[in-house]
Amino acid sequence: MSFSQFTLDPSLLRGVSDLGFTDPTPIQTAALPEALAGRDVLAAAQTGSGKTAAFVLPILQRLHGRPGAGTRALVLTPTRELAAQIHEHLLALGRHGRVTSATVFGGVKQGPQERALRAGVDVVIATPGRLLDLIGQGCARFDRLEVLVLDEADRMLDMGFLPDVRRILAKLPANRQTMLFSATLPPPIVQLSRDLLRDPARINVERRATPATGISHALLPVPEKLKSKLLVELLRRDEVGTALVFTRTKHRANRLALVLDKAGIACDRIHGNRSQPQREAALKAFKSGRLRVLVATDIAARGIDIADLPHVINFDVPAQVDDYIHRAGRTARAEATGSAVTFVSPDDEPAIAAIERVVGRRIARRTIAGFDYAEKPTASLEVPIAERIAAIRAQRAGERARAQERAHRREATGAPSGTAGRTNSRPAVAPHGARRPGRPQERRSGGR
Ligand code: AMP
Repeated sequence: MSFSQFTLDPSLLRGVSDLGFTDPTPIQTAALPEALAGRDVLAAAQTGSGKTAAFVLPILQRLHGRPGAGTRALVLTPTRELAAQIHEHLLALGRHGRVTSATVFGGVKQGPQERALRAGVDVVIATPGRLLDLIGQGCARFDRLEVLVLDEADRMLDMGFLPDVRRILAKLPANRQTMLFSATLPPPIVQLSRDLLRDPARINVERRATPATGISHALLPVPEKLKSKLLVELLRRDEVGTALVFTRTKHRANRLALVLDKAGIACDRIHGNRSQPQREAALKAFKSGRLRVLVATDIAARGIDIADLPHVINFDVPAQVDDYIHRAGRTARAEATGSAVTFVSPDDEPAIAAIERVVGRRIARRTIAGFDYAEKPTASLEVPIAERIAAIRAQRAGERARAQERAHRREATGAPSGTAGRTNSRPAVAPHGARRPGRPQERRSGGR
């Protein structure tokens, strides 16, 4: 099987070959003929399956002959990272053509996105929240739209984006090709697909998401309080080279990054409380090999695509089996091999049983020879919530006191009072893991 069997323009075949793709993956083999023929598609496809090219190539094929006629394709994704990655894929596959494209997501300046939408770029790849804002401001016109893709629809559901998605759908022309990709098909997604798709080609829908083949799975039982020590030990012994490490919460990601830092291990973290430039810088440094470890939470890691990532470490067992599959899917991309190592504390056993059911076998438990499992831990990873709040209060009280002092000094010296009222009591930088009041939850951060 090769890509030349599909009705693809030679410029696209060149793009495919530039990327080093020789044979289509199973989802591409199944979806490309249908999508290229203009049919609606409902595909149960996990990340790592090659699903992006399965919808990007038909979009480029449709648009390449007549670019510049207004926005004709829209891809909706749950997270900024995924949007950026799809865009990269589209730029690479379409580099020998003239189709224009732009991403639209929160956390970055609105101006360039607004201009791209007003100019009517051919393809828009967006997260729902920011796109809705811009539609509300009258910047986006979709009256020429011909193709809509919903990528990782189940994740959009998990993140609470379906109402936003439906609001966007109400603004789109009804006569179009629609493709829906989802790792799983829970009832609300099935309902959405019934509302949206017309006689779709159903691809792989019977199959439950299972981790890509090529991944070796291992469980490392360890007391909760010795997890960071064990991770440092694995890294010191060079048992693990470059690794993407998942934690349950943003606070734990911050704290673990501090521990690794102290141990002299080059690392950074990405999660919903970090700004888009911070996330991008961390990802870039990790991809370039400057960082050995990237600590991430599930949401932030969606869509991260790192070639040759040999290890994924679940520092915390994911609460959802699907998250396990998505995490493990970061390694062994497109048929390569990789390992998914999971730290298991005694409380995690029920979650592990559910994961083993999906993986289809019992996962080997390993102990690390020479590691002192009986050691009394010196410090706990997390700072108790009461202490965190007290630290934030103390910091704010200090800032208020300093601001008052400055105001008094200005009064005493008779300085003009123009800026004296600016006693911003909010810290410029929140302490690690502290959530500022009113900040959006991580689940929202991907969309706006
Ligand atoms: P995706 O599931 O679309 O995120 O793709 C996962 C990874 O597989 C990406 O790194 C793609 O570049 C790669 N990929 C996609 N299609 C192919 C292919 N036909 N041959 C080799 N690699 C591919």
